[in-house]
Amino acid sequence: MTKKLFWSDPYLTTLDTHVTTVDGNIIMLRETIFYAFSGGQERDSGTIGGYPVLEAAKSGTEIRYLLSSDHGLRIGERVRVKIDWHRRYQLMRLHFAAELILELVYRRLEGVEKIGAHIAADKARLDFTWPESLTPLFSELTAQAQAIIDQDAAIISAFADELQQLRTWEVQGFARIPCGGTHLRRTGEVGRIRLKRNNIGRGKERIEVYVD
Ligand SMILES: [Zn+2]
Repeated sequence: MTKKLFWSDPYLTTLDTHVTTVDGNIIMLRETIFYAFSGGQERDSGTIGGYPVLEAAKSGTEIRYLLSSDHGLRIGERVRVKIDWHRRYQLMRLHFAAELILELVYRRLEGVEKIGAHIAADKARLDFTWPESLTPLFSELTAQAQAIIDQDAAIISAFADELQQLRTWEVQGFARIPCGGTHLRRTGEVGRIRLKRNNIGRGKERIEVYVD
């Protein structure tokens, strides 16, 4: 199984490792820092052995990387993995900002249901079924989330079940949440949080989350 070093150290931007599988344009690695789309968090951008990664896909507990057909990499070959740190850091800041808002919405609105979540490098979004506009809650949600951010508390990411590759993040005294994403070390790294409403249809509410 590919060892996912993006969990143990999400701040790593370069890694030397070995190719374990080559299946045409698809390769797999012994260890990786290159995150594949999962839990709503978009994948990283970067290179393996100098070749741009065209796609990264989770397959059970494995990650398969799609390279160009001329990659020429062989099993056992030593390669350098590099990720676009600016993109990854934006994804981590927005991911944790969205986690804060989600947890606060669950606590504030009884019976609210999350129907979607996506973390891109420019914004995150959370979709809910709810019969009315959520805008009246925004100043309260923003203030509560910003208060947690400004505490600059430690975010503890850990395995809940290593065999199943299940992870959690925890801010002591606030929450412990199942999530397999890549997380910041401290809440203060989120920065300033901003919310925007987007009505995506009858009885559905979208909260767009931005960080500055
Ligand atoms: Zn998450």
